[in-house]
Amino acid sequence: MKLESLHLLMSYRCIYECDHCFVHSSPRAGGTMTLAFAKEAIRQAREIEGMRDICFEGGEPVLFYPILLAAARYATESGLGVDLVTNGYFATSVDDAVEYLEPFAELPGMHLSISEDTYHGCDNGDNPAARVREAAERIGIACGAITIEEPCGVSDGHDKGLPILGGGVRFRGRAVEALAEDPTLPRKPWREFTECPDEDWADIRRLHLDGYGNLFACQGIVVGNLSRRQLHEVIDSYHPERNPVIGPLMRGGPAELVRTYGLPFDGEYLDACHLCYLARKALLARFPDTLTPPVVYGVDEQD
Ligand code: SF4
Repeated sequence: MKLESLHLLMSYRCIYECDHCFVHSSPRAGGTMTLAFAKEAIRQAREIEGMRDICFEGGEPVLFYPILLAAARYATESGLGVDLVTNGYFATSVDDAVEYLEPFAELPGMHLSISEDTYHGCDNGDNPAARVREAAERIGIACGAITIEEPCGVSDGHDKGLPILGGGVRFRGRAVEALAEDPTLPRKPWREFTECPDEDWADIRRLHLDGYGNLFACQGIVVGNLSRRQLHEVIDSYHPERNPVIGPLMRGGPAELVRTYGLPFDGEYLDACHLCYLARKALLARFPDTLTPPVVYGVDEQD
């Protein structure tokens, strides 16, 4: 594992409850990170050779504004780049968005990623994401969009191991419960999903860290916990082929996960993630340290 980026999920809480959300974020979700925990994670990250940046995401990280800003400043002081993923809910006007964002404009190399699609209320020209974009341009913060399209067909995935910035809905997390029932969507037999489309498990370049200490590449498949081990120990002891979930996924995708554990999924599915998520959900009790936290599976809350 040659980590280049650590993504801090500042909380699972969000003002929205999007149908396509990978991690079941909602206004009721918890898992909020303390500033002390975020700083310790950043301190450990900067010790990793090749680490380039810290990405703040969620949930909605701007809900925890003072903590977010202090952690972002600490990341910058540590010599790391900062990316912030937000839905821009705070942008009542462009001027107000400038007030929120101005302190971030002082951070060298600061980048904003704005969730900008119909799931986040962006179905007309004047919306929070557009206001954030205008504010960022006004004060000189580089920004890009994360745009998830309506579900329409089997996703082919994207460049493995990179954050998902666009394309169709991936059927994992809430998308499975909220969107997968649509009978008009095309499906394929379970046997055909022989590859994980989005992760290169042998060459992980970015990890997510949540407020419970869980470290994962794909949401809900944990490779270590920062409350129990240091980040460098998690990296050094990473043997994906020995992991009870990642091993089968590497050998033959979600179909192999189903086969390995004799799971009762012999029908047709919307994409590899659809089959993978259902298989993992069926294995929650068997691998509670790997398949966690429960909120990602829409099961319950830890706090
Ligand atoms: S197939 Fe499974 S592990 Fe791979 S990206 Fe989809 S949900 Fe994640």
